[in-house]
Parts: sequence; C-alpha cells; structure tokens
Amino acid sequence: MQNNQDHKNNNAILVINCGSSSVKFSLIEPTSGLSLISGLAECLTTPQASIKIKHSLNDNKTEQSETRYLSAPFDHQQALNALVNELKALNLVENIIAIGHRVVHGGEHYSKPTLINEDVKNTIERLAKLAPLHNPANLMGINACQKAFANLPQMAVFDTAFHQSMPEKAYLYGIPFDLYSQHGIRRYGFHGTSHYFVANQAAKMMNKQLAQCNLISAHLGNGCSVTVIKNGKSVDTSLGMTPLEGVMMGTRSGDIDAGIVIHLVEQLGYSIGQVDILLNKKSGLLGVSQLSNDCRTLENAMLDDSHEKSAQAKLALTVFCYRIAKSISSFSASLTELDGLVFTGGIGENSSWIRQQILNQLGLLNFHVCKETNLATRFGASGNIATNTSRPCWVITTNEEWVIAQQSAQLLS
Ligand code: ADP
Repeated sequence: MQNNQDHKNNNAILVINCGSSSVKFSLIEPTSGLSLISGLAECLTTPQASIKIKHSLNDNKTEQSETRYLSAPFDHQQALNALVNELKALNLVENIIAIGHRVVHGGEHYSKPTLINEDVKNTIERLAKLAPLHNPANLMGINACQKAFANLPQMAVFDTAFHQSMPEKAYLYGIPFDLYSQHGIRRYGFHGTSHYFVANQAAKMMNKQLAQCNLISAHLGNGCSVTVIKNGKSVDTSLGMTPLEGVMMGTRSGDIDAGIVIHLVEQLGYSIGQVDILLNKKSGLLGVSQLSNDCRTLENAMLDDSHEKSAQAKLALTVFCYRIAKSISSFSASLTELDGLVFTGGIGENSSWIRQQILNQLGLLNFHVCKETNLATRFGASGNIATNTSRPCWVITTNEEWVIAQQSAQLLS
C-alpha cells in the first residue's frame, strides 16, 4: 500500500455504488487501481446506520480501519458528507477529478459510460420501471454527490452496458414482439462491469487481445450470472430483463416455469407482491436449504452430519451447482471456439467445493479440475485451476470499482 502523500499529484476517481440503504465508496487511482480510501455506509435511515472507512496510513505498509457512527438523521446525504469530511481531513479532496457511479439499469440507451446531465438523470429515472430496487437508489447517490461535490463531473457506468452487444436471438423472449418494441421487455443482463473486468484479466493471462478471446465467465456471489464472450464481446448472459432470470442465486430463484407464477396466484392465493418476495428474497439457496443464503454457512452445515439441516444444505448446493453447469454448457451454442472458463464473485473466488462440483459436470466441454490447485486458489489468489490436459479454468478476483474508475477517467479525457 502506498502513502497518501505519494498521490498528492495524482488524479483519483471517487467510485460510488449506492443501494437503497447503503453507500459503498472507493477513491481509486485509475491507472494503478490503488484504492486510497474505501468504505461502506450501511443500514442508512435506521438507528443502526454506520459508516466504515478504511484508508492507507503513511508508513507504506499498513491499513487503518475506522468505524464511525453517524448521528441522526443518517441518510445517504449525511453518509456522503461524512465521506467529504474524511477526505478533507486526509487532504484528498483536491485529488478527485470525477465521481464514477455504478448505475444498474441503462436499458438500450447506454452501451458506454456516460457523463451525467439532467437528460441522463431523467433517463435513469424512467428506467426505474425496469429496476425499481436499484435505479432510484443510484439516482439518490448521484443527487447526493452533486450536492456534496458540486464542482466535479459525475459519470454513470451501467451494469447492463457490456451486454448491449447481445444479438436479437439472445435478447428476445419468445413472447409477442410488441412487448419488446413498445415496452422494452427483453433481456438486458447485469454484472456487466464484472464480466468485462475478468474477461480482460483472462486475456492478459493468455497474452491475447480481448477482441481475440472466447470465454464463458461465471460471476457467483449473492447474485449470480453466467456470460458468454465472443471475440471480447458479450453475446449472451443468464440474467434477463430483471436480475431474477438465469441460474439459482442466494435468495433469488433464477429460471422457473412462468406457469408457476400463475399457479401461485390462481391456485394458492398469492398476491403479486407475495410472489415478488417469494422469488426474489425467499428462494435460491435460502429457499431450498431452509437454512441460509450464505454459501459458507451451507458448506459448513453440509459437512457436519450432526447439523439438522445438513442434507437440506447439500441439496441446495447440489441444485445450485447443477444449474450453473447447465447454463455454462448451454452457452456452447453461442461459440465455435472456447479459450476457457472464468470463476469470480465471492463464491467463485473462494469456494473450491462449488467450483469442483461445477467442473465435474463439464467433462464434455473438456473441463477437468486439478484438486490441489483448486484448493490453493482462494482468498484473493488467482490462476488456472484446471489440469494440464483440460481447457483452462481461471479464478479471477473481480474489481468492478477499478473498471468504473478507469472508464470514468477515459471519459473525462
Ligand atoms: P455480492 O453479490 O453481495 O457482492 P459476494 O460476491 O461478496 O456477494 O459473494 C457473497 C457470497 O460469497 C456468499 O454466499 C458467501 O458465503 C460466499 N463466500 C465468501 N467467502 C466464501 C468462502 N470462503 N467459501 C464459500 N463461499 C464464500
């Protein structure tokens, strides 16, 4: 870790990821990816609101982590004001040349990072009908930053942008075309910044240009998605119009027969609101295991025969892995060549058990896991976990904040 003073003359980007009750932030030097200060404000607008700020000290080696509790009313604006005070105290405000915002839904409007003006804000607001949980929160972050950093340009980097290269055959649903042409009902995909970052890293590992790479990447965290990248561009992805489609996730069901929704409403008396909560918050690993959405908790329970939910935890993880393996294999339909597979996200980067289960079901695509390397490649380690005779399978730690910082800096210049 370098010294804050060393960066006095550098140009840093403040990256903001604003959720409905949280603000994640990082001040990043775009060329090196060095984070000068990062943190998380969470439980905003509740009595538990807190802000945790981590920054480098002046001895080049250690990091200091500080937790500060905000006084009421602890909203997004106050969290950003606390951040401004911290940046002032560390003499870092002058370093910031722009703010880069992660914005979840850019619809068909944005395939590239964009300088935020009133038009862009209005479009993000209009797109909230496609991402009601995320876009309003992103907009709140933009408005709060415009107040806190009135003189700085603000950029939006969209989670959907990387997937705008998908062809019609991949983004259209098999429903009446009018629903697409008049109401925008189509597949958009998410996690684009992460898939783009790991594809770039994989290209570097192969000593190739990204435009020459054919990859499948699996971002497995609380939300999960699989993307197929042809000649460096996303040509299909598992998440759809909303982040509910595709593989099974922590609390989201992923693909189900749409007829189940009709059945739940007509036969079991569910309201649409209840179906929403069931599929988004009570399904996935949590729903099947009836224990937790957290992969670590489930792996521990599975390995402990005396745990009352041991079998149920194993069942949830087994369904999870099969559905991911099935999604990866299905994407071979989009490619004529395949350089390799990438795992990323909290589960993809850390769970050797999950990776092994998935790869064990992909023998037909010539993926074979090396058990020792797989076990060793966790907790920040990157590398190829496949055997010598297998197609490569890389574990790569994602860094969406760095992409947002790089793209914002590029846009500025
Ligand atoms: P988010 O999508 O919220 O950014 P993350 O990418 O941080 O989530 O991933 C969270 C998931 O990663 C959780 O299910 C967590 O259990 C899992 N995870 C983190 N570390 C490990 C580990 N060592 N072994 C297995 N799973 C892990």
